[in-house]
Amino acid sequence: MAFVSDNVMNLPPYLFSRFQEQKQLLEADGVDVIDLGIGAPDLPPPDFVIDRLTEEARNPANHGYSAYNGSQEFREAVAQFYDKHYGVQLDPDTEVLAVIGSKEGIAHVLQAALNPGDVALIPDPGYPVYRSAVHLAGGKSAALPLDSTHHYQPDYAAIDSDVLKQATLLLLNYPNNPTAAVADSDTFLKAISFARENRLLLVHDAAYDLLTFADYEAPSVMQVPGAKEQAVEFGSLSKSFNMAGWRIGYAVGNPEVIQALSALKSNLDTSQFLPVQKAAATALTSDLKAVARHNQIYQERLSVVYQGLKELGISVSKPNGTIFVWAEVPAGLTSMTFADKLLQEAGVIVTPGNAFGERGEGYFRLALTVPAARLREAVERLRELDLQEVTR
Ligand SMILES: *Cc1c(COP(=O)(O)O)cnc(C)c1O
Repeated sequence: MAFVSDNVMNLPPYLFSRFQEQKQLLEADGVDVIDLGIGAPDLPPPDFVIDRLTEEARNPANHGYSAYNGSQEFREAVAQFYDKHYGVQLDPDTEVLAVIGSKEGIAHVLQAALNPGDVALIPDPGYPVYRSAVHLAGGKSAALPLDSTHHYQPDYAAIDSDVLKQATLLLLNYPNNPTAAVADSDTFLKAISFARENRLLLVHDAAYDLLTFADYEAPSVMQVPGAKEQAVEFGSLSKSFNMAGWRIGYAVGNPEVIQALSALKSNLDTSQFLPVQKAAATALTSDLKAVARHNQIYQERLSVVYQGLKELGISVSKPNGTIFVWAEVPAGLTSMTFADKLLQEAGVIVTPGNAFGERGEGYFRLALTVPAARLREAVERLRELDLQEVTR
């Protein structure tokens, strides 16, 4: 590997790829694999968003470079969305930035905010990109433990005091991937005061902000008084509007960090294709009825899985948001042996909890990204496995 940097060579291993390889082998053998491992929505984006994209794509004026920080219209749409949805005022010129998906934004804000050796506190279990991105930024990650006894809320007391002294950044994600936990009324109040006390930049990943069920509405960290002094929040159209491949999201909050991220990004990319930004602006300023319809579909799928798993004796809590179900693997199995068994013997792919960090061991994540009928079929196949028999 003479031409590959140590930084890339030493990236944390990606645990998902091996299941995809096995899926291909099984499919080649004629097995009908149900893939509940994929964390990307299967539903289409709203028609009015696609209409705006195609309309704008026909305008020759839209094919040049965008402003580095995103188009005025997009940044104003984000500010309008925060005002209407959260009652939060943002300056579209200094407190909003377009990003090429929130993954890009989060990976780069770590480069914009961390110095070599700085410690970033990241949720364990958590979205695997956080750890890789901290590594690529030259930082060190330390686990912010999330566990079921604390309803997957941050357990700040569990952080080692020496680690905390070196920490400069805290990353949170609610509604949460993979645990499907949501923020309580005081989750962000506590987070902001913890960040302030310990002089940490709080980075909140709100990729599932609109994907909520029943009466629950996810709060924004920006609703906490003084949040702009301490935090940036990332939003995405990937999950809420089913626009994962479009690569559009935003960063909002602390103007100094927004400016730093913008400065870094101006050397790497030149923002997103203008028609994509314009269509995303239309989505964000819409009445959000399309999102409500998608949430209804996810909720129907959820009840299939939730009921099914409970009947099988699998311990699972009912989520208030995201597109995931987080459940305990049956006694006697590890996350990996359970996921392997499901794929080999039932043709069902789930994601083993340890793929999200040490504390994910003993759990698995199932994505609600296939139609209800397929989920019913997956539950049936699990029933036939007779999990109780196996673990005895
Ligand atoms: C899907 C996902 C993202 C990435 O979203 P993009 O905007 O498509 O980059 C970020 N964070 C979490 C927790 C996710 O699950």
